[in-house]
Amino acid sequence: MTLHGQSIIAGVPTPEFGDSFHPINPTTGEPLQPPIQEALGSLADAAMEAADRDFDEFRAKSPEQRAKLLEAIANGLEALGDELLRRAHAETALPMARLTAERGRMTMQARLFANLIREGTWLEARIDRAIPDRQPMPKPDIRRMMQPLGPVVVFGASNFPFAISVAGTDTVSALGAGCPVVVKAHPGHPGTCEMVATVISEAVKKTGMPPGVFSLLQGKGNYIGMALAKHRLTQAVAFTGSLKGGRALFDACTSRATPIPFYGELGSVNPVFLLPGALRERATEVAEAFVGSLTMGVGQFCTNPGLVFGLKSAELGSFMDKTASLVKEWQPSTMLHGGISAAFDSGVERFAGIHGIRLAAKSEAPADALASQAAATVFITDQKTFEENETLREEVFGPTSVVTYCESKEDLEQLAESFDGQLTASIHGTPEDLKEHARLVRILERKVGRIIFNGFGTGIEVCPSMHHGGLYPAATHSFFTSIGTAAIYRFVRPVCYQGFPDECLPEPLQNKNANGAWRLVDGKMSNGDV
Ligand code: NAP
Repeated sequence: MTLHGQSIIAGVPTPEFGDSFHPINPTTGEPLQPPIQEALGSLADAAMEAADRDFDEFRAKSPEQRAKLLEAIANGLEALGDELLRRAHAETALPMARLTAERGRMTMQARLFANLIREGTWLEARIDRAIPDRQPMPKPDIRRMMQPLGPVVVFGASNFPFAISVAGTDTVSALGAGCPVVVKAHPGHPGTCEMVATVISEAVKKTGMPPGVFSLLQGKGNYIGMALAKHRLTQAVAFTGSLKGGRALFDACTSRATPIPFYGELGSVNPVFLLPGALRERATEVAEAFVGSLTMGVGQFCTNPGLVFGLKSAELGSFMDKTASLVKEWQPSTMLHGGISAAFDSGVERFAGIHGIRLAAKSEAPADALASQAAATVFITDQKTFEENETLREEVFGPTSVVTYCESKEDLEQLAESFDGQLTASIHGTPEDLKEHARLVRILERKVGRIIFNGFGTGIEVCPSMHHGGLYPAATHSFFTSIGTAAIYRFVRPVCYQGFPDECLPEPLQNKNANGAWRLVDGKMSNGDV
């Protein structure tokens, strides 16, 4: 595919005569071709107006038609073959094997949502039939179901150029729900964004959807993203990225004359609690799994284990010894871009400068700054130092973690209490440990979106039960997930119909249950006709 470096508005590559930038190959530091033309506000208007214009036609399409669109996207992405992987590799330095797996997740997600849309239970249809002779007042016929919000804006993150970017869960769940999507391309992988957007535009055409259901806007430096978040026609924003960027966009969305929902998936330090039984039984294995999770993807995961807490003991010492030897052996690797690698280095320096913290281990091979490489680095500290230094709770995006030695079970609980919202927390222990530390679990339930027993948060399973979110600052709305099929609920809202004749109701609410979806009928689940 020949890249043009332009935004794609309603299926049409559209030149812009403002600034342009070159994506940079993080491994070589060289600029990649072609230059990317940054969209101005007029393109935001054009994209949002096309999305709004085509919303009614799009949402009137049958579930089967929208499912076919998602499948055409998945098929088109696979048909691009290694060309897509090579471009993503050049822009992000993520290894080809990792990108191959992530492409698999991207296409799997699209097909997962296609199946969800077809099946129909996600519409949450509820039917309460009329009781005209009810005393003292007749009961009206009341029915409700989910309806799409309208045009939504999607921002992907730098660290998932496929699964959390142009055709990631945000886009496919919104399209599946019947919402037109305008994507703000990530400036770290704009060529990859263009390739994926071209495939989506072709799928839109091939499946007979109106063209305004998808647009991609290129840009760097906040301007175009902010213009989209503030646009009068935008009905919701889904964002994955930094706390700083997410907070700025959240404030923009909520301070509009008509506020709109902003679903931000932000950073997290994902505390890990090592309980005594686990360390007694398998300190070495836990250390191996910890370093594997810490260094996976050069630590560039929002679920990276940034903080570890354990009770001071000989077993915790064994865990640290093994951790240190693995960290020293780990080969420094290239990060997503120079900015992330510079931020990582300054975060590690900040930790190293804290009185009361000491270096436990660092990759022995030197990191090549010109190739934006990061060295794995693990620190040790005590509870007092941890409590006195708020900065230790801040995400340093990359392969670094701080292990805090605690004195008692109560200390562990006190630390857990002191956390702000997190995406995940992990507990390593035996079933007996879990019973003994039941209060720790109760505390974490009030802090995080996902609690993991004997595992780590990296490697998120995409399935209906997944909850990938949490309390602020990990996410801006703790009820919603950005991964798994429940992600669709960010883009719909309930509409209630009272007293409508059967044939004038939306099909999922009619007496005949054409799809066989599960519905709540007079308070009972049913997948039959009423
Ligand atoms: P980022 O710098 O916040 O960028 C994300 C997107 O938002 C980019 O398109 C960026 O483009 C735009 N943006 C940032 N600040 C903006 C602002 N003030 N106004 C308008 N647009 C803005 O994040 P990133 O570096 O790509 O991603 C790394 C972060 O994502 C890490 O903190 C990681 O933990 C987090 N992450 C979270 C999850 C999760 O599921 N919770 C998953 C993956 C990653 P411009 O800067 O060009 O405008």
